[in-house]
Amino acid sequence: MLALPPAPPGVVPYIARYSEEKLLKPRIVQHPLFPGVAYADETPYDRDSFGMLWVRPVLLPKRRRGEPRLREIHAYRQRRAMANMLCQVCTRPPEDPDEPPLFLLKDTSGLVVEGERTASPPVCVPCAGISIHLCHGLRGGHYVAARAMYTPAWGVAGLVYDPDTLTPHPGKDLERVEYGTPRAAWTVAARSVVALYGVTPVDLDEEFARFGMARLEDEFARVAGLVGAGL
Ligand SMILES: [Zn+2]
Repeated sequence: MLALPPAPPGVVPYIARYSEEKLLKPRIVQHPLFPGVAYADETPYDRDSFGMLWVRPVLLPKRRRGEPRLREIHAYRQRRAMANMLCQVCTRPPEDPDEPPLFLLKDTSGLVVEGERTASPPVCVPCAGISIHLCHGLRGGHYVAARAMYTPAWGVAGLVYDPDTLTPHPGKDLERVEYGTPRAAWTVAARSVVALYGVTPVDLDEEFARFGMARLEDEFARVAGLVGAGL
């Protein structure tokens, strides 16, 4: 049983989507230079450094974002958190640059294995505690925690388009697509996916104990304050 202070109410993770943050729907066309998809009005900002085409989420100031949708992810903020290894809840960068980032994954296989791929950016230790309280999928101990020394970009999760119809594969949600594969050119990315290497399992009870109740309470208050101020 985890000894944790009560989680602050109303914390909205940085990567969560809000109701007004819709996706824009630019017209999809065949890429003029190679087999693959492009936007009719594409700009260099639509692709990442691997040349992958990305969805265009609406970016709004906090007060105009509407209601949080805690189970949905904002593509741009997810990508930013992953690219910079920021805490997906409070955006804090790793406290100690030499300490590998902490990942909290839904417990699907029981252990985080070498090379495991995830679209879930890291969490700081206090936010791991908050996430366990707040995240529906993690409640009841259905999670595994690990630190990963190396987190190379592996690919994306996105919609894969049919070369003939230029529409997404019917009935499919986001599919994971590796950078550099032929399917990548036909994909519109919505999440960044990294691979985890140099994995060390983490006992969160021990991490929380190391922090101590008083400091965890302070940290929970810090996160609640940050979120109140509008990340
Ligand atoms: Zn955090």
